[in-house]
Order: sequence, then C-alpha cells, then structure tokens
Amino acid sequence: MSDLSRPPRHHPPDPPPTPELERAGGRLLGTHAALVRQVHATDERTLRDQMEVTSIPAPPFGEATRARWMAERLTEYGATEVTIDATGNVVGWLGGMDPDARPIVVSAHLDTVFPADTDVAPRREGDRIVAPGISDDGRGLAALLTLTRILAAGPPRTAAPILLAATVGEEGIGDLRGVRGLFDAGAAREAAAFISLDGAGVTRIVSSGIGSRRRRYRVRGPGGHSWVDWGRPNPIEILGRALAELPRADEMPRATTWSAGRVGGGTSINAIPEAAWVEVEVRAERTRDLERADGQVRKAFERAVADANRTAHRAGVDTNNPQRAARLEIEPIGDRPAGATPPEDLLVRAAVSATRVLDLPAELATSSTDANVPMALGVPAVTIGAGGEAQGAHTLGEWYRNTLGPEGVIRALLTVLIWDEAAAARRVAPGEAAD
Ligand SMILES: [Zn+2]
Repeated sequence: MSDLSRPPRHHPPDPPPTPELERAGGRLLGTHAALVRQVHATDERTLRDQMEVTSIPAPPFGEATRARWMAERLTEYGATEVTIDATGNVVGWLGGMDPDARPIVVSAHLDTVFPADTDVAPRREGDRIVAPGISDDGRGLAALLTLTRILAAGPPRTAAPILLAATVGEEGIGDLRGVRGLFDAGAAREAAAFISLDGAGVTRIVSSGIGSRRRRYRVRGPGGHSWVDWGRPNPIEILGRALAELPRADEMPRATTWSAGRVGGGTSINAIPEAAWVEVEVRAERTRDLERADGQVRKAFERAVADANRTAHRAGVDTNNPQRAARLEIEPIGDRPAGATPPEDLLVRAAVSATRVLDLPAELATSSTDANVPMALGVPAVTIGAGGEAQGAHTLGEWYRNTLGPEGVIRALLTVLIWDEAAAARRVAPGEAAD
C-alpha cells in the first residue's frame, strides 16, 4: 500500500547554514541603522499606503487604476524612470554604484482574485485591518513603496541597480503574464536576481515553484438520437474513458498531481451529445514531470477518441466521413512554469541570513508565485512575506495584523543588501563564495 496521507510534494530542503552572511548582515544592519530606524519611524505611513492601495480594486485583467496609483507613489518616493510597460506592469529604478552590475528586481503583484464589484475598502477591527487583498498583495506593494522611500532618499546604497516592479497577472487566470512580460521583453531581461514580496510573514522563503498546465479537452461528434443513432461516438463516454485511463493517486510519481476540475456538455437525456468538455490541471515541482504528466493526459484523450472512432466504425458508422467521427480539441487555459532556486544559491542564503539576523526562524517553502518565471529561466528568485500576520487570503474575510510588520520590510531590505555586497565581491573575485 502506498502512503496517501503523504502530501504530493517533496519535503522542502532545510535552510542552509549561513554564518558568514549573518556576520555580514549584522554589520550591514549597523551601517544602515538610519534606514532601519526610518522603517520603524514611518510604520504608520506604510500602513496608510497598504490600506490606500488595497482600496483600489484590481481584479484580474483590471489592474490599470491601481497601476497608475503605484506609478505616482513610486515617483513621489524618488524612484526614477517610472513607467507602465506594455504588459501593464509598473517599473521604476533605484540607481546603483556599479554601472556594470546587472540589476536585482524587487517586486510585488498588483492583481487580486476579487471581481471588480467587490467591496475592498479596508476597515480596522481592533488590531486587525480587514479587507480583501489587504495582505495579498497590499502588504507587498506597501513594503515595496517603503523600500523605495527609504532607499531613494540618500546616495545609492547598493552596487547593483534595483529594478522596482509592481506586476499584473500573478493570480490564477492571470497566468503570470506580468512577470513573463518583464522577463521576455521588459526591464528584467538582464536581471541577476529576483525577489517577490507577496503577502504577510517574516519566516518563509519560497525557493521552489510548483508549475502547472491547465487545458480544456473538448470532444465533438456527430450527435444523434440515443436509440436511432446508437453506435455513433459519444463525447461524454469518450471523456469518461479518457479520465479512467489516467493514473490513480497511488500510481502517480511523487510531487506530481492531476485533477479534472470542471466538466460540461450534452444536449438531452435521450440524445448522443454533439460535444462535451473537461478541464484538467496537472501540477509538478519539476518541468520534466510537468511535461510528462501533461503529455500523459493528452495521450489518454487522443487514444480514447481514436478507440471510439474504431468502435463506431465496427458498429457500421462511416467514421471516415469527418461529419460522422469524433474529434478532439485541446484549448490551453494556463501554463505556469516550474522551477527552483537551489538552497545554496547566494540569493536564498541572503534571505535566510537576513531572517536569522533578525532572530527569526528561516523556513524554505514551495509555492506558485511570480518567482516561478525567473526560476524557470535560471535566474535566482525567491518570494518572501513582507511582514505582519494575515489570514484568509483569497476570501472576503482576509485580515492583516501588523505584528513584526516593520521587521518584514527590514528583512527585505537586508536580503537585498546582503545579496548585493556578496554579489559585488564575486564580481571582483569570481568563483569565491562568501559562505
Ligand atoms: Zn499573492
């Protein structure tokens, strides 16, 4: 018997030891003590930004108003060359000291899962702020603004330039189109590293991204009367046979899943349907597992259609006539690449050490976020929380509490500073790791 109580994912790796980077982080905290004080001193302003940005609806494919607001704030806080790119992302820059250094991206996502008519106005209830999107990703956007505000005020603090990005299309049907645009043709093409600030929290570091492929399989046939036309290929029956061919849960490879999520079709109880469809999602941690599982699903449907046509032919239906045969249409719905940044990568170690310098426990985690896209391209990427606590993401009852809120912003700042210093040292002495 296989163990089905085990979740279908790999246990995330343990965070690596980071003694040298922690020493560097402690020193950088001292060097930049004024910035750290400012994060604490202006914490109320960060919360006001968080509530204001959350109050602007940003449904999937409807992020433009929120994008304009972010572009105005980034400009006001001192980012340069702030623009809205062809995909709809807001991008801006904080200059670095080294003109040859490739940029590090710090990003948060604009979109929410909520439709345009949802009441997203935040309200305070005791020590909580309640609003759909207040944490995911109102918190990340607010932290991005605070980082900009404190870093833009003085001379450059980093060798590498910082590319600030507020992305569209992170959630569900957005299919990561914002971050794809940023890397395909946009400002992040040259990026050396990518950090996404997503939601609340101060301990988790997402270093591995689950990929998914979502398809609608639609089978069409001649249709007909259930008695008179018996023998013609039946699209609903074909879907059933195809799904029955797919591996059962105890036969799937580890860290790979498939799910038939929605189904529809048919005309009447006494008719052979003309069409039927089912939506199937596969997920995996590794691209090759994802492709294998996706191919397995496609083949099951192709085989079921071919079998049904052969059977109908034997039953006397002229399936050589395309009007009499069943055929398959496959419509892609979503495609999120899988990827991972190894625990020993400098960016992961920088995030782990920044967390530990603040006396917080670092945890590596797996999730599906904007970081999937750079991970799949081989660009080191992590997604981290932007401070505070939250619950109820993707529900109308979502809330945020500002416990360790400033620490989340400081952790992000410190991750950038630790990464930047070690990356600059590597450019001087290539091949030497800092840890
Ligand atoms: Zn999010």
